[in-house]
Amino acid sequence: MTAKKIDGRAMAKEVREEVKVSVAKRIAAGKPKPGLATVLVGSDPASEVYVGMKKRMCENLGMNSFAHTLEADASQEEVEALVSKLNADPAVNGILVQLPLPDHLDEEKILQAVDITKDIDGFHPINIGRLAQKGRESLFVPCTPNGCLVMLDKSGVDLEGANAVVLGRSNIVGMPMALLLVKRNATVTICHSRTKNLKEICAEADILIAAVGREEIVKKDWVKPGAVVIDVGTHRIDDETKEKGYYLTGDVAYEEVSEVAGAVSPSPGGVGPMTIAMLMRNTLRAAEIQDPM
Ligand code: NAP
Repeated sequence: MTAKKIDGRAMAKEVREEVKVSVAKRIAAGKPKPGLATVLVGSDPASEVYVGMKKRMCENLGMNSFAHTLEADASQEEVEALVSKLNADPAVNGILVQLPLPDHLDEEKILQAVDITKDIDGFHPINIGRLAQKGRESLFVPCTPNGCLVMLDKSGVDLEGANAVVLGRSNIVGMPMALLLVKRNATVTICHSRTKNLKEICAEADILIAAVGREEIVKKDWVKPGAVVIDVGTHRIDDETKEKGYYLTGDVAYEEVSEVAGAVSPSPGGVGPMTIAMLMRNTLRAAEIQDPM
């Protein structure tokens, strides 16, 4: 069997087009451009790249972006004061605090300081708490797991009663992914660094979400024939034989897994572009919640 490729790049383009059309409609109706504010503490090169990508994406979709950078040694009070200022700014619909924050800062308190209607990352404890509760809906769902869900939906995967395995239990990917799948009536197993018989558990999955941050850990014999595999992992591997001096890969050994799976999302070209598209969709949603047409 050769697996179908779940093309996150193409799917993300569809989402972005929908957002662009809705943004243009709002502006034509006299509403201000939706605005996304990013808060970066310090100068982590990867975080700077992500913030730059978000800024360009906002411009492409007709939204405003406001980039705020604080020194790496900024105090808890300074970061919280900036968040409060952005909460009160009507031009800012969504606030994104770029993670990870430096160790001296209390991440939970800072995320909690974000106005829940501007929490486009979906990391506010109330939004995450609602995700975990039956019959409750969060205002915003974290972008990476929501992007995975949209990829499954766009691929026509039936989640109802499916045996789903999520590899990883982080606050930003694994745990919200598992909660989303439970909400959609999948039967979910969450695996982590202490899980025994990892390979055997994965090999039972109809749907396997890999978010462990271990380069190509998911091999062919970890995958049930016909299963759907979503690769969240992103790794930059130094390789002097490549033009750029490196190549990118994921948590899944894509080529060999493609021999047994029914469908696989590649990395790069899968969850990454979808994550940013979901962030743009959440920013538009924030504008719609705060200032309905
Ligand atoms: P993380 O916070 O490091 O969490 C990794 C999770 O995997 C933890 O729950 C950990 O278990 C588990 N784990 C680690 N090694 C394991 C092993 N050998 N066997 C089983 N479980 C293991 O990482 P993350 O932030 O969730 O990110 C995961 C990956 O996704 C990374 O490659 C990251 O770069 C990528 N990512 C991509 C996007 C995107 O937009 N494409 C967004 C976010 C993250 P414990 O809980 O027991 O430690």
